[in-house]
Amino acid sequence: MSQLRQKNINYSICQALSYNSAGINKALIIYDVACQWYVKFAQRVEACPALQTPDNLEIVPAVGKFHLSAHKLECFARFSLMFMQGTGHIDGEILETLWAPFNKISPTARSMSLAHRQEVYDDHMRDSNWKKLVGIGSVSPCLRFEDKLIHQGHITVKSLCKKYKAASEEVNLTRGPFEELTASLDQDKVKQWQEAANNAASQRGDALDIYTLSMEKGL
Ligand SMILES: [Zn+2]
Repeated sequence: MSQLRQKNINYSICQALSYNSAGINKALIIYDVACQWYVKFAQRVEACPALQTPDNLEIVPAVGKFHLSAHKLECFARFSLMFMQGTGHIDGEILETLWAPFNKISPTARSMSLAHRQEVYDDHMRDSNWKKLVGIGSVSPCLRFEDKLIHQGHITVKSLCKKYKAASEEVNLTRGPFEELTASLDQDKVKQWQEAANNAASQRGDALDIYTLSMEKGL
């Protein structure tokens, strides 16, 4: 993809990264084509005086689950949120979540003329975007989950709190079977895999290829 086409994205991302980011040293950027965008991002920032990112900020690119399935096989391990420590179980999509509620208006819109349908869809999309915007944060009292203080008043990002809670529950649910499986395997191999997994988590990039399914091609 032409880097020129990424100029709005470069600008938006630089602005977002520079806003209230003091003390943050790692940023996860989930973007539909992060695998291509990320290649020349640093170069673009360097070359353009209007683009700036905070010093010592590590950018971790990822692709949302819905879009990743349409990428090349190599992209799966390198950009999947599944192999990223600390992200939890998230899909990484925002805009696409309106598609399911949109099914409800499609029977009404089906018989409309093209222009009418476009207007109705636009109205619903704007309404959905507005609801997401005003729902991003809310002022709430202290939020606790399993005796851990998640947030002490002030602005709470509701969707993040919901996802954190769901991810924590999943960890508790899967820990038992995971430990049982680990105990039943060859311990030398487990150690080897653990080292490879730790290396992949810290190095990322090519090191993540250990998660790619290697298959021999058919004749
Ligand atoms: Zn890709």
